[in-house]
Amino acid sequence: KVKASLKQETKGVFWVDSTILLYWIAANPSRWKPFVANRRYSISRIGHNGSMYLVKTIISRGMSPSELFRSELWWDGPKWLRHSNEWASSITAPDLRQACNVLVRMAQAETFAEEIKNVKKGQVKGSSKLEALAPILVADILCVGGRLQNAPVSKTRKHPIILDPNHPLTTLIMQSHHHQFKHPAPQLLISIVRERFWPLRARNLARRLVHNCVKCFRSKPTCMEQLMGDLPPERRSNVLWLVRGKPALIECDNAKNFRGAARVLKELYDLFKTQQAQEAITTQ
Ligand SMILES: [Zn+2]
Repeated sequence: KVKASLKQETKGVFWVDSTILLYWIAANPSRWKPFVANRRYSISRIGHNGSMYLVKTIISRGMSPSELFRSELWWDGPKWLRHSNEWASSITAPDLRQACNVLVRMAQAETFAEEIKNVKKGQVKGSSKLEALAPILVADILCVGGRLQNAPVSKTRKHPIILDPNHPLTTLIMQSHHHQFKHPAPQLLISIVRERFWPLRARNLARRLVHNCVKCFRSKPTCMEQLMGDLPPERRSNVLWLVRGKPALIECDNAKNFRGAARVLKELYDLFKTQQAQEAITTQ
């Protein structure tokens, strides 16, 4: 079903961790009863590489919590899936680009169905939010049209792919650029993304994304107000500055809180030591 909906000639790779299924595949189909045998024959028709990867699941074997904590298999999956050269080298840059185009076509079919229809007819309606972009279709993908026709820039930059800001794919594309290019600020992120894409309302999207990025949040100096309970407002002026690296500002209240507490304790101590208090304690 997935293959059919992609409308693209793709080589399917199926991973399975069902031990029983792997045994069925490994043995000769004639060994099995009709139901299994028929399916086993179908797999032969598709073709399989015959190798058997047995991933013994931790769940069925059992494991102590401390072992589980250290278990690479549990947290990261089997090694061959992560490091296999065959697995990694089988995906090339053109593959990635093609996969991305497939996803973009699917997203645009959801968000710009009307516009695509109109562009095919040769006209985008005046009410469309895309009118200013004079959209064109390049390989069935809705792209920005005339704007930079004569500019000395690359073809993808001239005709970036139009993306709807509310589609999850747009967020994912922005996010992956943000991570890949080491967390640029919103404005820089937009210029990088615009090498190939044209997300509508990009500023809001980029700002929100950077604002919600944990890594960016952690590396940014922030200022937080100290929790002061119900003290009167004039005492709430103390601000705690949290910064990473060299502090821009250090504020000190000369330990007023501690000096205040010391004074109260001293008063209590003095009261304890008075003749009257000593007598009251001993007689009761
Ligand atoms: Zn970030």
